Amino acid sequence: SVRVRFAPSPTGFLHIGGLRTALYNYLFAKSHSGGKFILRIEDTDQSRYVEGAEQDIVDSLNWCGMDIDEGPNEGGDFGPYRQSERQEIYHKYAKQLIEDDKAYYAFDTTDEIDQMRERLKKSGNPSPKYDAVTRQSMKNSLTLSQDEVEKKLEAGEEYVIRLKVPRRETIRFEDLIRGHVSFESKGLDDQVLLKSDGMPTYHLANVVDDHLMEISHVIRGEEWLSSTPKHILLYQAFGWEPPQMAHLPLIMSPSGGKLSKRKAEEEGIPVNTKEYIKQNYEPEALVNFLAYLGWSPGDDSEIHSLNELCHLFSLDRVSKGGAVFNHKKLLWYNEHYLREQTDKAIAERLRPIAKAKGVEFPDDEYLQKAISLLKDRVSKIDELLDMGSFFFDDPEEYDEKALKKWKSDSSDLVSQYREKISGLQDDEFKAATLKSHLEDVINVNDVGFGKLMMPLRIAVTGQGFGPDLFASMELLGKEIVLKRLNTALE
Ligand code: GLU
Repeated sequence: SVRVRFAPSPTGFLHIGGLRTALYNYLFAKSHSGGKFILRIEDTDQSRYVEGAEQDIVDSLNWCGMDIDEGPNEGGDFGPYRQSERQEIYHKYAKQLIEDDKAYYAFDTTDEIDQMRERLKKSGNPSPKYDAVTRQSMKNSLTLSQDEVEKKLEAGEEYVIRLKVPRRETIRFEDLIRGHVSFESKGLDDQVLLKSDGMPTYHLANVVDDHLMEISHVIRGEEWLSSTPKHILLYQAFGWEPPQMAHLPLIMSPSGGKLSKRKAEEEGIPVNTKEYIKQNYEPEALVNFLAYLGWSPGDDSEIHSLNELCHLFSLDRVSKGGAVFNHKKLLWYNEHYLREQTDKAIAERLRPIAKAKGVEFPDDEYLQKAISLLKDRVSKIDELLDMGSFFFDDPEEYDEKALKKWKSDSSDLVSQYREKISGLQDDEFKAATLKSHLEDVINVNDVGFGKLMMPLRIAVTGQGFGPDLFASMELLGKEIVLKRLNTALE
């Protein structure tokens, strides 16, 4: 059965690339009946641990609607799901490798290793490593007698456990996305498996857990491809069958190159999922967008819910090449998913946003009407408040560009219009009536529509563009419209 894991290290807030990895794992799991999506927290590097990062990961997955089948909070038959709680397991397996002569104790101090590197560098080795050549000269259990090793261990000397990497071997595996991959073992260090602080390295913990948790497919970012041969060697050393591997293409910046934190910032692309949440993106939009960032269903359909994506997804349609992050496309998705919602639903979400910004409105009906006039014109829900600021407050100033369109005859035309509509009863203050009065004024004066329309819009909204002006005036009501016309004509 299909069991996949998302295995983030809680070293910071969940990056958008990490979220895509999680999504592809989730979609792959759910594209198979009974497929399980597991969250495993890889928190063995205590120096890089960030408080709150695990919660951020969980919140981000929740926000996107990805349900976790097994994980630190959900439990499951293969726990614990936090690596820091699995130390004994790693010790046991590291010791097993020692017994099977696949790994060895090494007592070198950091200083000694540095010196060794220096020596090798001087002797012309361009990439000195703790490798097959040096194995013999190091203080490790390959060169020490059994007795000496025992003594050192008893004396409590610091040690690491290293994998005995075969000296000349070609490591091959089939990647479900990249096809055939091979690496030469002679380029590999004797990997540290257990560190001197007793913590496992990423490699050991990752392999042991993927095996014990019965992970069927490892789906992760391309940056982990170079770790895979090390993992394959570990699987061989244990005599275990490795899971299937799939390495996802990098996410690229629009200006080229990998979308690094710095690049993203330069290009105004939010980098952490948290920021998308804070900036009021629609989760369905981000999910749909990320699904297409390196994958497509092979037809020209673009809009799919998480549920639909679960049925459509397959690894063989994931691209090998980098996927360019197109922010405009994300906003396009966002517009789609925003407009799809009822005014009522949008109002419900907009209310707290408005409150936080100190924006006030008479009642919910008013808010919903404003939303229906505005929602086709914005990309994000919070932009409703900016674009529609005149619904919530008198314009404080007039847009400069718009003001240029206020011509010498504008005041006269607006003033004539004011005369006409000031006679209307409150219940006559309707879009159609307001429009026909405008037509009367332009006909009498024999001028074009825009001659009055533009200055009127500026006076009422402060802007040169915006939603349907007559419907907007109807919603604002007679009192407010007249007040604003008076102010503009002063
Ligand atoms: N802990 C690694 C990470 O932070 C996991 C990589 C993997 O999936 O093997 O991405």
